[in-house]
Amino acid sequence: MSKTNSYADIRATVVLVVPVSHDVSIITLECPAIASTAKPGNFVNIKVNDATQPLLRRPFSIHNVRGALIDIMVKSIGRGTTLFCKTPSGSEVMVLGPLGNSFDLTSEAFQTAVLVSGGIGTAPMLFLQKTALAFGKKVINLAGGRTKDELLTQNLTNCRCATDDGSAGFKGNVVELLHKELPELKKKGTIKVFACGPNPMLKSLAQFCQKNQLVCDLSLESVMGCGIGICYGCSVDIKTPNCNSGTILLCKEGPVINSELFTL
Ligand SMILES: Cc1cc2nc3c(=O)[nH]c(=O)nc-3n(C[C@H](O)[C@H](O)[C@H](O)COP(=O)(O)OP(=O)(O)OC[C@H]3O[C@@H](n4cnc5c(N)ncnc54)[C@H](O)[C@@H]3O)c2cc1C
Repeated sequence: MSKTNSYADIRATVVLVVPVSHDVSIITLECPAIASTAKPGNFVNIKVNDATQPLLRRPFSIHNVRGALIDIMVKSIGRGTTLFCKTPSGSEVMVLGPLGNSFDLTSEAFQTAVLVSGGIGTAPMLFLQKTALAFGKKVINLAGGRTKDELLTQNLTNCRCATDDGSAGFKGNVVELLHKELPELKKKGTIKVFACGPNPMLKSLAQFCQKNQLVCDLSLESVMGCGIGICYGCSVDIKTPNCNSGTILLCKEGPVINSELFTL
């Protein structure tokens, strides 16, 4: 996993807020300094308003980069995300980033990037897809949601979906979909899996990848404070390469880890 860390706090203009479902919006920010250095998997830590509540910033993956603009895909789950989704165009927010490490696309040992995501975990996949294609990789997206309405597959190419209730695509979860698709995917050459989603999904995927000897990068989530390694709010237990347990700060040494290190 390659690291990028710059702690510039940037005042960014909210260019547009576009709802894409009942609780998810894509928020476009103008911040050339972040757009020019961001890598897929990086995140930004945003002060969603000027008030003292919420006091802490909120972390979001970079969904897309378009010239001087970055897009953030935000699901309203609480106070900060709901306020952010209601931000009027033209307002300004403070943005720290790009933060964290990134998905590792540099290996020449794989030809096809299989992007596995669940729910709002689909947020980083568009930027990852674009970058993987630019690296000359083939890309397959496997995206899951509880129902058809919870799929967030806008602009993803080569996308197969899974829904828990069968309202769109494969009926089941996205790891079961990967299991079904794997023989076909393997015919296209060596694959590497990249994933983001809820912890139970990542746990099941990590086990699947281990069993099937697939290299896999996972982007984890945790509640996070500063985003720059000071507050220790995002410490996460991992397995170390020599199989002992260890702790990392997700904001600095993550959010992307090799699936073999995942312990949850
Ligand atoms: C590296 C990283 C990247 C992220 N990328 C995105 C993204 O691209 N889009 C997006 O919508 N969200 C993303 N998140 C999650 C997002 O940061 C949280 O949803 C947000 O901070 C919640 O703020 P809130 O004020 O709305 O909720 P709060 O009012 O703070 O919390 C509401 C509820 O959600 C729980 N909660 C808060 N944060 C998290 C979390 N990180 N994971 C699970 N439960 C949580 C709280 O415990 C509480 O129960 C990311 C998180 C991390 C760490």
